[in-house]
Amino acid sequence: MAAAGKLNPLRLPPLPTIREIIKLYKLHALKQLSQNFLLDLRLTDKIVRKAGDLTNAYVYEVGPGPGGITRSILNADVAELLVVEKDTRFLPGLQMLSEAAPGKLRIVHGDVLTFRTENAFPETLKRQWEDDPPNIHIIGNLPFSVSTPLIIKWLENVSSRNGPFAYGRTQMTLTFQKEVAERLTANTGGQQRSRLSIMAQYLCSVQHLFTIPGQAFVPKPEVDVGVVHFTPLIRPQIEQPFKLVEKVVLNAFQFRRKYCYRGLRMLFPEAQRVESTERLLHLADVDPTLRPCHLSMAHFQRLCDVYREMCEEDPQLFDYNFREELKGCRSKMEQEKKGGEES
Ligand code: SAM
Repeated sequence: MAAAGKLNPLRLPPLPTIREIIKLYKLHALKQLSQNFLLDLRLTDKIVRKAGDLTNAYVYEVGPGPGGITRSILNADVAELLVVEKDTRFLPGLQMLSEAAPGKLRIVHGDVLTFRTENAFPETLKRQWEDDPPNIHIIGNLPFSVSTPLIIKWLENVSSRNGPFAYGRTQMTLTFQKEVAERLTANTGGQQRSRLSIMAQYLCSVQHLFTIPGQAFVPKPEVDVGVVHFTPLIRPQIEQPFKLVEKVVLNAFQFRRKYCYRGLRMLFPEAQRVESTERLLHLADVDPTLRPCHLSMAHFQRLCDVYREMCEEDPQLFDYNFREELKGCRSKMEQEKKGGEES
């Protein structure tokens, strides 16, 4: 559970409002970059409060934009705030915040998808994986097109304990399109149960903290927004390499409305498909007629363990990708067709 931290009274000196900053620096949102800003400081305070107790914390904010959440973080008595923003137009406004909170705000012009966090915080903050989380928090309201690939990348980092997780079980509070937030947190049998539910929940305790209605943003996005909190688990629920879990889960959810064996079959080359799928399901004790959304974490854990054993028996199996086979078949057919037309 995310601890509900207390916000200290405002410490920043009087500043122009976020709306005034937007006007001053002509920071109109760029639709092609899916920029939607949070101007209501009660809401940005709520996001920060729900992230946990940030007293003396090192915080990494992704995509600060005009700086609403940034202000709330600075008001929470943090030790240091590192922000990474891609769009140069926001840098002067952030610089103004930095001057208002001397020594607290570190501004990086960069891309959060490639920014390296291994050495971003003091070494002294490092904790053993089994200890309580380090006093480092990641917070952000990013465009949806960035937040989903970023969480997949960070989940892989959780699994290998690198990136921001080289410091221990760093907590994250991030916004997603509400439907994605629901997928991330969906239970077995839930309507939104999907690949993301398994990938997030096998590695983290995941909580949908609250929903922000679309009209709270400027400009208003088409959808509502879910705020989601992640704390990496001490022990992942599936103890197999990330890429292997990803492959099994991807295949299982391939045909969402069909029985799960239909997608799982695609883990195997055609020549051995029927026999190997039967063996996988039998050894993992999974009913082939369950729908993917009814597969529990324990089912996935057994499927991944058995698939791993099968890959060890047949070292070429893991590299098998039915989509590649399909592509190969298509291009062969096209070549045959072309040959036929030419002759
Ligand atoms: N966090 C601000 C707020 O809540 O008002 C801005 C939100 S806006 C949806 C997303 C922000 O992330 C924009 O400032 C945008 O320029 C920035 N951004 C988008 N992609 C980014 C990336 N790959 N790396 C860093 N910043 C990015």
